[in-house]
Amino acid sequence: MQKPFEIADFVTLTPSASVETTTHGWRAKCLQRLIRLDLPVPTTVSLPAQTVRAIAAGQSIDTVALASEFGPQMLVSVRSSPENPEWGGPGTVLNVGMNDDMHAHLSNTHGSEAADALYLRFVQLYAIHVARLDPDMFQQDPGPGALELALDAYEEETDERFPQSPARQLGEVLRSMARAWEGTTARLLRQAKGAPADATLGLLVQEMALGIGPGLSGSGTIQFVDPVTGAAQVTGRFRGQSQGRKAAIEALYLTRDPRGASLQEADQRVFDQLCDYGAACRVKLREEMQIEFTIESGQVHVIDAVRVPRSSRATVRIAVALAEDKVISREDALLRVEPRAITELLHYQVDPRAPRDVLARGIAASPGAATGKIVFTAAAAQASAARDEPCILVRRETSPEDIRGMHAAVAVLTERGGMTSHAAVIARGLGLPCIVGCSEIELNARERQFRGPKGRIFREGDIVTLDGTNGEVLVGSAEMLAPALDDGFRTLLHWADLVRDIGIRANADTPDDARTALMFEADGIGLCRTEHMFFDEDRLTVMREMIFADSPEDRRASLERLLPMQRADFLTLFELMKGSPVNIRLFDPPLHEFLPHDREGMRELAEALDRPLSDVMRRCEALSEFNPMLGMRGVRLGITVPEIYDMQARAIFEATVEAKRRGAEIVPEIMIPLVSASREVELVKTRIDAVASTVRNETKSDFSYKLGVMVETPRSALRAGEIAEHAAFLSFGTNDLTQMTYGLSRDDAGRFMSTYVNQQVYGEDPFHILDVEGVGELLLMGAARGRGARPDITISVCGEHGGNPESIAFCRAAGFDYVSCSPFRVPVARLAAAHFAL
Ligand code: PEP
Ligand code: MG
Repeated sequence: MQKPFEIADFVTLTPSASVETTTHGWRAKCLQRLIRLDLPVPTTVSLPAQTVRAIAAGQSIDTVALASEFGPQMLVSVRSSPENPEWGGPGTVLNVGMNDDMHAHLSNTHGSEAADALYLRFVQLYAIHVARLDPDMFQQDPGPGALELALDAYEEETDERFPQSPARQLGEVLRSMARAWEGTTARLLRQAKGAPADATLGLLVQEMALGIGPGLSGSGTIQFVDPVTGAAQVTGRFRGQSQGRKAAIEALYLTRDPRGASLQEADQRVFDQLCDYGAACRVKLREEMQIEFTIESGQVHVIDAVRVPRSSRATVRIAVALAEDKVISREDALLRVEPRAITELLHYQVDPRAPRDVLARGIAASPGAATGKIVFTAAAAQASAARDEPCILVRRETSPEDIRGMHAAVAVLTERGGMTSHAAVIARGLGLPCIVGCSEIELNARERQFRGPKGRIFREGDIVTLDGTNGEVLVGSAEMLAPALDDGFRTLLHWADLVRDIGIRANADTPDDARTALMFEADGIGLCRTEHMFFDEDRLTVMREMIFADSPEDRRASLERLLPMQRADFLTLFELMKGSPVNIRLFDPPLHEFLPHDREGMRELAEALDRPLSDVMRRCEALSEFNPMLGMRGVRLGITVPEIYDMQARAIFEATVEAKRRGAEIVPEIMIPLVSASREVELVKTRIDAVASTVRNETKSDFSYKLGVMVETPRSALRAGEIAEHAAFLSFGTNDLTQMTYGLSRDDAGRFMSTYVNQQVYGEDPFHILDVEGVGELLLMGAARGRGARPDITISVCGEHGGNPESIAFCRAAGFDYVSCSPFRVPVARLAAAHFAL
């Protein structure tokens, strides 16, 4: 027979006991701290992980010695204490030690009703969770005869009396909890929360403090901040006489409350005592704690304390308040806020407490939530916006023609597409909630309806809520939490700016984007995609005229009309940005993106251009490409139709001169897209330099500018050395670079990405998180070669990865000067950059 454990295998918690989180678990450590703070914690014994493991393996423990720690009449609770509170652990078992003697004793001191209720609860719990008897046999409601029924049922099922020895009860409870921790389900659950395979459990045996008795008695939890907003406020719950007996006061609020009696009113001294404990925890444990307490005839016992569970917005507010009160350092405050979590503060969110009727799930492409009526076309979205009716645009996938519809919608849902598909990129830029690749819906745009899973049909006008934060479409409207760009948020990000050592710019195409970038205090604009300026109604027609021009002269004439529009665009940006850097990318997409795709559109265009329909159709046909992503776009267009870049360069320079005149001096950065050969840069640079000279002469004004290259083809990364000779900066366009490195279409990858990630072909969606092994190597190689040729060259990333914390870590480690991302991702990027610098 194995030797029972020695008494040294458990530790009574005292201020000087040797208790570590790694051996005894977080709860034991926390309780010891409370004891050190002189809080009235009932006698508690901690069984370290090694003991618990031995118990689970079948060794017996000397529970007689253990029980003797609690005196002759033992009544205890057993709680789990894993190393990390997130890892769960078996639930608390109360009232261990309840037997006939204790029942008789409690009947005398607290009345038979209370004694019955306590005994009944213990018998039921023990029968179901320890003796593993059929729960149906132990469903008795408290009341006359219920206890006897439960005791009889136990005896009938086990052929023995309900165990009367407190030591035996304790031994059995410890064994069942130790084994529960080793069970497969518990193991899988905690591993899903990040626990290692060999995660251990400590157990705590604590003297019961009964929340019953004459005078003020009961139990509850109290915390001193609001868990949703983080504002200082006493919240929690209290239940008078909570262990059963009919209460003099049934339930109480904690603070004075018009709805009924409160703990504060009932006993201000007890309330103040609890507040003092909270304040002591805040300062000494350096955290807002939720205190679990019991009051026995006016006597307070602190049973446990946990970190207040909190929303992201509360996390920010609490961390900032602790640092402002000098309880923690600013650096600690920064590190206590998970960068990704602050996205929640920037947008409306579905209230986590609200019920959710999930209609379908897709890829969470742009965070935030919105409720609106379903529409299926951009035109319907615009019409809906004109009626002031919020709408959700549902498309198979979006194209540039949908942009105005996206502006008009409150959220966007697409059946196809991945993280960098058109809908995803534009929605993130606009700060619109968006779900893409929602293949669970079957769209029938002609019938203006879609079918969800389980055959549910949704028609135009039906109300849905789109939760872009977790990729769920919900039926109907939902309770929302408003954005929280409050002082706490701003203060935290200013602290982040003081420590981070990589720039964070925003990708901003329009004045509205620039305002958002300013609101989020980006270090400038890292990518202005100028083509987005040509989709407005008045410009689109001129743009199309330019595309249809029969001669360079005609083309120039159309471009002349576009020039003042572009100049005004840039001037607005320069004035808004007040001297912060602005990086403008020259025209990038293929021209056919500006042409209509259906017969009706072509007919309208023929009318607008006063040309025969056949002519328009032929031209559209001629411009169409088999693979537009790899066709006549970017610098290829700039070289074949150079007048477009000439016009853009002139608009930039004239706006620079005018901005300077208005007091907003700027050194514009001009970026050439889709370069793959240095000769392309040479050719474009020669023309742009010439335009600059002309503008200088015409305006009699001097200005400088930087010309750089967008490295987004693998070849440009490989040839970065010779390209750098003509470029003041290299900015990696990791969207295209990922697409071309993998040979993976940005717009189609959504169809199989989840299969690929599930089967671990890719660790992550490479459009979402930079593939540091492949695409990353091209970045490192390109940067090194570029710097080799030109040591002062500025290196950055302006693809969507710029807003992703892991990718920022990579760029920072590689010594890049800045990353640029959608304006709404700037705050996360600022905080993440600070984390990496700390
Ligand atoms: C890129 O390719 O990474 C990029 C920023 O450009 P776009 O997304 O406009 O192709
Ligand atoms: Mg690109």
